[in-house]
Amino acid sequence: MGRLFRWSLKVSMYDFDIKYKKGSTNIEADMLTRHPIAYHIINTPPEPLLDINEISHFQNIENTSAPKCFKRDGVFVVKRQGLAKIIVPKALRVKLMETTHKKFGHPGVATMLKLISPQYYWINIITDIRNYVKYCETCQIKVTEMIAEPMFTGASYLHYFDENIVKRIRGNKLDIRLKFRSFGPNGLLLWSGKKEMSAAADYLSLGLKEGYLHFQYNLGSGEVLIVYNSTRVDDGKWHTVKATRIEQGGTLVIDGGILISGASPGILNQLNVNNGLYLGGMESIASLSMNKYHSGLVGCLANVTLSTNYHIRLITHATTGINIQACL
Ligand SMILES: [Zn+2]
Repeated sequence: MGRLFRWSLKVSMYDFDIKYKKGSTNIEADMLTRHPIAYHIINTPPEPLLDINEISHFQNIENTSAPKCFKRDGVFVVKRQGLAKIIVPKALRVKLMETTHKKFGHPGVATMLKLISPQYYWINIITDIRNYVKYCETCQIKVTEMIAEPMFTGASYLHYFDENIVKRIRGNKLDIRLKFRSFGPNGLLLWSGKKEMSAAADYLSLGLKEGYLHFQYNLGSGEVLIVYNSTRVDDGKWHTVKATRIEQGGTLVIDGGILISGASPGILNQLNVNNGLYLGGMESIASLSMNKYHSGLVGCLANVTLSTNYHIRLITHATTGINIQACL
């Protein structure tokens, strides 16, 4: 998932207006409005992230060379974008990335490149930095801890196109377990359907209507609606849901209570969908749901598991997320 998306999630937690103020009249705030790393680059001579003697040592061992490289201050450099950049020997690349990444508080790929590439060069530097950041455990924990339980406003959604997720939704069977809390009586929890919806198009949905959970699907030969009408679930408390489907037959259980079942009509038994999985709502909700739903969940989702053992990392796996906050 993109870093920009994570930033937009973080920023979406605040209510703000963007106003332009001339630099000359914005003196007090100036220090705050300048990004510390950008400030560092602009205002100080680039601080060496690696020891020059160590670079020289490993350059000699590795017999470093590159087209048009030359020696400056005892190390091999190449001219790139008008800058003489030190060629980083293989032995020091991970060390350089690790030092930079830790020193500057686990920045993303773009910032890492801004910090490293003005001074240093190697082939595949972008790929290596991207992989380093992607697999940094601290970064991964930060993201998942930030919003393990996303909160939806009624006009929010998370959208997944990941094949690992989609393949567990379509086909002839489904097992989905999740936890949710809802502060309103209506709202879509989950939707998987077609890009172009029509009355006969395949879809599968879970959502609240008038305080009760509805599990509904159409495999192409008619709809079934399974309503869990023994428990109201719009009380703001956490509830667990287990919804399963094997061919036409579906079941629904809330909070480990009685099992409600139903079956869709006709001979078609596969869910053929092509528009990913939506959680907590979706865009153009009324038209895409053919007026079954008019708003998303007002509340939170957590622990979404498919096929009994595939746990969706709600934020990290999402392709798109709109108006998502952390659950209060
Ligand atoms: Zn990191």
